[in-house]
Amino acid sequence: MKNMFDSLRQIVLDVNDATGLEQALNIVVKRTREVMSVDAVSVYFRDKKTDQLVLMASDGLNQQAIGNIRFEQGQGLVGQVLDRAEPLNINDAHVHPNYRFVTETGEISLHGFLGVPIIQHRHVLGVLVVRRREKRLFSAVAETFLVTLAAQLAGAISYAEKMGELNSLIEGGNNHSFNMKGLSGSPGVAIGEAMVVFPPASLDAVPDNTISEDEIGEQIDAFNEAVNNVEREYRALSQRMEGAISNEELALFDVFALMLKSDSLIDVTIDRIKAGQWAQGALRETIAEHVRQFDAMEDAYLRERAIDIKDLGRRILTHLQAQQTNRQEITGPVVLVGEEVTVSQFAEVPLQYLVAIISSKGSSLSHVAILSHALGIPSVMGLDSLPVNRIKGQQIVVDGYSGKIFVKPSPAVLDEFHRLIREEQVLNTELKELIDKPSETLDGIHIPLHVNTGLLSDITPSLQSGAEGVGLYRTEIPFLMRDGFPGEEEQAQIYKQVLQGFAPRPVTFRTLDIGGDKALPYFPVVEDNPFLGWRGIRIMLDHPEIFLTQIRAILKVNIYQNNLRLMLPMISDVGEVDEAIGLIKKAHKELTDEGIDIPYPVIGLMIEVPSAVYQMEAFARRVEFFSVGSNDLTQYLLAVDRNNKQVAELYNCLHPSVLHSIQHIVEVAKKHDKPVSVCGEMAGDPGSALMLVGMGVDSLSMSVGSLLRVKLAIRSFTQTQIEQLCSTALAMESAGEIRLLFNEALENAGLGGLVRAGK
Ligand code: PEP
Ligand code: MG
Repeated sequence: MKNMFDSLRQIVLDVNDATGLEQALNIVVKRTREVMSVDAVSVYFRDKKTDQLVLMASDGLNQQAIGNIRFEQGQGLVGQVLDRAEPLNINDAHVHPNYRFVTETGEISLHGFLGVPIIQHRHVLGVLVVRRREKRLFSAVAETFLVTLAAQLAGAISYAEKMGELNSLIEGGNNHSFNMKGLSGSPGVAIGEAMVVFPPASLDAVPDNTISEDEIGEQIDAFNEAVNNVEREYRALSQRMEGAISNEELALFDVFALMLKSDSLIDVTIDRIKAGQWAQGALRETIAEHVRQFDAMEDAYLRERAIDIKDLGRRILTHLQAQQTNRQEITGPVVLVGEEVTVSQFAEVPLQYLVAIISSKGSSLSHVAILSHALGIPSVMGLDSLPVNRIKGQQIVVDGYSGKIFVKPSPAVLDEFHRLIREEQVLNTELKELIDKPSETLDGIHIPLHVNTGLLSDITPSLQSGAEGVGLYRTEIPFLMRDGFPGEEEQAQIYKQVLQGFAPRPVTFRTLDIGGDKALPYFPVVEDNPFLGWRGIRIMLDHPEIFLTQIRAILKVNIYQNNLRLMLPMISDVGEVDEAIGLIKKAHKELTDEGIDIPYPVIGLMIEVPSAVYQMEAFARRVEFFSVGSNDLTQYLLAVDRNNKQVAELYNCLHPSVLHSIQHIVEVAKKHDKPVSVCGEMAGDPGSALMLVGMGVDSLSMSVGSLLRVKLAIRSFTQTQIEQLCSTALAMESAGEIRLLFNEALENAGLGGLVRAGK
């Protein structure tokens, strides 16, 4: 039995390598028959058009029957497995009342029957059946094995199915377009050519190769040229990003360039070539040696550098192997495709050509999704069965609203999306006209709209969008771009530019919020449950030296228009507020004693932990404003990890419990005359933004790309209409109903274009 389970993983891996459904299912039946020592194994697959189960593959049954045996739902034993979505174990199938005898399969001598459903995301894809001559029930172990196998096969089978569909489409075998649904990353529609990004070449795969004396010179030249190319690449990348990211973020590229030119990399590799190893092998050895040294270091920050060295090595290798590579020319709109698209891959496409991003991993709160939001281009994440390596150069339609993509679209699909894109363009032009118009309801109630930022490069676009201030400055971003905690002066320089840039508009600085999924490379925090662990204010109170440095840096630049507001993240207890305020007072006193005459700051709290919701009274007596961090509040209230694709369907900021919590926050704050803002992604979604306004939230803060869309929504209703929608929503019992209510309200007001493709 042990062997049976040992084979399980290998079967799944083999199926994963299949290039189409037929091949995948043939592997399943053949390997299962071998492993379970049974007389026949078959797979019935659900035909999407007829909803019947079709015999698709078998080992042991008559091969002529394949494709010809069909069962309706509930019909025969196989139909019963589909119907009940449960295993069925029978000692003698022939005497079972539901048995439907079919002659074509040649199963007359087979009595024992064990059928299990193949289920993915609650949907039965097919049925896996094993048969044997003996009239005997299958053992509990056999049943467990088959259930375990089927559960793991579902993903691999649907991947193979997608791959097969795509192959036949690319080879011109059929003419209906291939489509898939993932998770909406950011809104918008686009059409472009797929550019696939991979992690660079694999160094470990480079073989040894001894060279002769007279090849040495040529190999050294090849190596030097590859190094120079990589250096040029870094320079070009950094130039391309200029203007899109700030100078400090750009400095990262210089660090790479320095590492590249170090003697320990160049000379050592050349020595190895001189000793008779070809350039690729010599490089592999040098990089491996460096990585071993870094891996062995005590210091976690230095250990992290091993990753950079590996990346550098792979880049040089890519150039060494360049003769065999065919780089994709960019001549028109590009859809960037990857298993996981990273920020540096983002930089490889000139921004004017980049129209959309799709990725097989990630969710709507992933870094790429947030970045695409800021750039105002659609993205679709979590396309987990996407055959990434097969779609290079294909035309792709991306609908960021519904999370759908169409590969090699049919003329009809293409026409439809061209029309939608034209409508989107009209909508975007109309939105631009709102920049200088006030954010107010039809009856003149003003709802200030602020931006969320953390990059210096965001200042100009934020101001140009008509934002009335910064509702959330994520101070951790400058900390992420460095090799160590930045000092007081260094921080002050950054904060000064933001405060000055936005003055007289208010700027809300959130104190360092690291931990959770935001780890600093030089301050690693390893925990089993990072989101329930050492995060935000908890780390700051344990490290007052880091907190005080930041507070001093922030306070001392508030010398222009007194437009600073200070906000504390991840507060879950009154004690934390008192301690943090104590430290802020200390920093203020120190600066005053040093002769720096600055005002005492306006202090507020993020309400993003459920326990904070119910301490609002105590907080309202201590601070001046509140901002709801709906991203975390939703994650903690619903117990749904905001980055986990598996449970992404459950993550919903319109869940009644989230709305009732926010309503409570607003009520208590109003009673104490303290303003409340919302700065999670929820505030940037037009329907949810109306809900928040209806509940009495005073201002909203969002990524710059959402600002005008939300403004249009607010300007299209009266306060009374919004409040009516809100009270209807608060009486509803599910997020789905509430979403529908707001979608309909926007659609009826002629604003359907804010929540779906088109105008
Ligand atoms: C939030 O939790 O809603 C929030 C704005 O903070 P962050 O997404 O940075 O955790
Ligand atoms: Mg948060």
